[in-house]
Amino acid sequence: MIKTPYGLQLLYGAEEIRRRVQELAREIRADFDGSKELLCVCVLKGAFMFFSDLVKHFGDNVTTAFIRLSSYRDGQKSAGGVRQVGRFAEPAAGKDILIVEDIVDSGFTLQYLIRYFKKRGAASVRSACFLDKPHNRAVKIKSDYTAFTLSENRFVVGYGLDYAQKYRNLPELYELKA
Ligand code: 5GP
Ligand code: MG
Repeated sequence: MIKTPYGLQLLYGAEEIRRRVQELAREIRADFDGSKELLCVCVLKGAFMFFSDLVKHFGDNVTTAFIRLSSYRDGQKSAGGVRQVGRFAEPAAGKDILIVEDIVDSGFTLQYLIRYFKKRGAASVRSACFLDKPHNRAVKIKSDYTAFTLSENRFVVGYGLDYAQKYRNLPELYELKA
């Protein structure tokens, strides 16, 4: 048991996540014919678990890269600014890119990433997102592939997602309740 001043309420169990991620991976794989390399970019830190589960199903002709972003957040809300942490060394020009992101909330982060890779001359840019939170959307953007969509506005942790760096290790997804 995890001792916390907050309550964790289970949203998706490990087996449900596993099945859905596998299904989504097959859908993505079917859209890329495999004759051309697919560069899968993990958006750190939140997407690390989703990324590792997803890319296992992709077979060969896949390369992986990692980018770290920090979005300015005021507590549990996005403040709109996105900043890259460190340098992204992987050449992107001419490549088919799949951005693998944890959550699309306001949409600022995904918008930043799509522009970033297009500016670097990617042949195509698509995105796979573990969780869509449509309630706080500030920019008109939709991920190409989505594993789950929240029907209510919730702050979630687990399966890579943190609150103050905690709970990332949990294999399930929870709502964090005050
Ligand atoms: P956006 O730029 O779309 O507002 O926010 C994207 C980032 O905010 C996500 O990649 C994620 O890191 C963080 N975020 C948004 N909602 C949640 C949430 O419910 N839980 C956690 N742990 N992070 C969130
Ligand atoms: Mg993120």
